[in-house]
Amino acid sequence: MKFLIFSDVHSNLEALRAFEELAEGIEHDKKVCLGDLVGYCADPNPCLNWIREHVDIVLAGNHDYAALGKTDLSYFNPYALESCHWTRKALTKKSVRFLSSLPADLVANGVHWTHASPHEPEEWHYILSRIDGKDNFPEMQAPVCFFGHTHQPLVLEEDSGGGIAEFIPKGKVPLKKNCRTLINVGSLGQPRDGDPRPVFVLYDQEAGVVEFHRFEYDIALTQKKIRKKGLPRYLADRLSQGM
Ligand code: ZN
Repeated sequence: MKFLIFSDVHSNLEALRAFEELAEGIEHDKKVCLGDLVGYCADPNPCLNWIREHVDIVLAGNHDYAALGKTDLSYFNPYALESCHWTRKALTKKSVRFLSSLPADLVANGVHWTHASPHEPEEWHYILSRIDGKDNFPEMQAPVCFFGHTHQPLVLEEDSGGGIAEFIPKGKVPLKKNCRTLINVGSLGQPRDGDPRPVFVLYDQEAGVVEFHRFEYDIALTQKKIRKKGLPRYLADRLSQGM
């Protein structure tokens, strides 16, 4: 099976539309969204509508839980908090119903999908380096696990002896047969690895290859909408910095 996988859309409709156009030209069986559909940008409902209609496997992230009042907000920074309050007011009943139906973690098609981490998925731990692999490899319920949450692409590999390697992926990444692999697919709506271009991956399960794609979109329009709706200006500015 071939999967198109993306995460952390954060209500960025222009990035999602540009992805939609690209996805039409890429052969795939299923689309997967790893959570944080809302928060930060200005188009929560149109993004949710598109994802509900077009994506086969959808998870919720901490920002989705926050918008529903399902998680503790004390660790949210002021920008995240303000956009969370804005999003709560903006969501339609239909959107709330859809978000409420989404899990934070799921095993399907022989793959472990999670928003933040296989270990305590609703505690929103950050997997930032190989050190974090120690808690998470033992919790994997499949040889391959895709996640998001940090908005930074990353691959961790654990060999059969328990050794863990880490690298920042680019282009095609062949998965090693005798390894367990944790793959962060980066963010579609708010990249934070210094590159403002959104990321998605194509996972060819049979071939055992994950391919990272980056693309351009109308950042200026997304920024204009954020400012127009009165969301923090910083949330618009950071998009062009990829931070
Ligand atoms: Zn996020």
